[in-house]
Amino acid sequence: MTGGAGFIGSHLCDRLIARGDDVVCADNLITGQASNVEHLRGNPQFHFVQVDVSRPFAIDGPIDQIFHLASPASPRGYLEKPLETALVNSQGTQHALELAKRTGAKFLLASTSEAYGDPLVHPQPEDYWGNVNPIGMRSCYDEGKRFAEALTMIYVRQFNVDARIVRIFNCYGPRSDPRDGRIVPNFVTQALLGQPITVYGDGSQTRSLGYVSDLIDGLLRAMDTVDTIGRVYNLGNPDERSVLEFAQVIKRLAGSSSVIEFHPPISTDDPQRRCPDITRARRELGWEPRVPLEQGLLDTIAWFRIRLGLTTVPG
Ligand code: UDP
Repeated sequence: MTGGAGFIGSHLCDRLIARGDDVVCADNLITGQASNVEHLRGNPQFHFVQVDVSRPFAIDGPIDQIFHLASPASPRGYLEKPLETALVNSQGTQHALELAKRTGAKFLLASTSEAYGDPLVHPQPEDYWGNVNPIGMRSCYDEGKRFAEALTMIYVRQFNVDARIVRIFNCYGPRSDPRDGRIVPNFVTQALLGQPITVYGDGSQTRSLGYVSDLIDGLLRAMDTVDTIGRVYNLGNPDERSVLEFAQVIKRLAGSSSVIEFHPPISTDDPQRRCPDITRARRELGWEPRVPLEQGLLDTIAWFRIRLGLTTVPG
């Protein structure tokens, strides 16, 4: 797995190890964190290599599956590291695909709902081509991922690599980085610390938040289901809400007295609406999200309470 020390990658490491796999976790730790996989160190099924997959790298031994997750993924993460983001999605993806070609491993590219840009079709099905600003601040990420998708399809068509692509919609849960500036870490931290909850813009823009355990189920199904070579799947929860509504729900569930403040957006091109059409994943993978928003948020709030030192026992 590339990006195995990230928020999603570390949960995927846990699940693969629990089902008996040996996992090589490759990460350069620019946005991933060693603490996310600290509990796996010493486990004979787990092997950590600190490596930048944008540069050529070698992994010894037979490989059955490659999950390519490496990339900064939060707007703050990729706006701070635009070159690294563009390169890990271009050169890094090629290196991971070459490894799949050489070893015969199955391959999964973690792409993103950002591939749809600021969508003009709603909700977004996989065959929508998107509305992306190729020279905008976000292009290191959204165009980077679109290039990664194009490269993956070249390796499918030209070299018969057994690859599939998933487009991940906003994901949240325990281990999401409290400093990465995303909606859930920000709002939960602010609510728990009694700080103002910072809504960017008027809060009418929408997102659909998916809980991390549901996403991990979807990643495994996309990799393991037969006849998924060259297929693209949206993985997300279609429960669409406005950003203001997320602020209100999190404030309530955290039992917080924080005020909700409106701030200017931190980046241009903030997509106004985002919601996955998951018909294809339902039909072809037999997958759909199971964790309702409030349940997922309560679990996330409990983890943040510990992370922020507000309690030592899960709430
Ligand atoms: N957002 C917000 N306040 C915050 C963090 C995020 O209003 O403190 C908004 C952001 O402007 C966007 C949405 O929440 O409209 C989701 O932002 P996030 O950074 O989580 O991910 P994105 O979907 O933009 O990649």
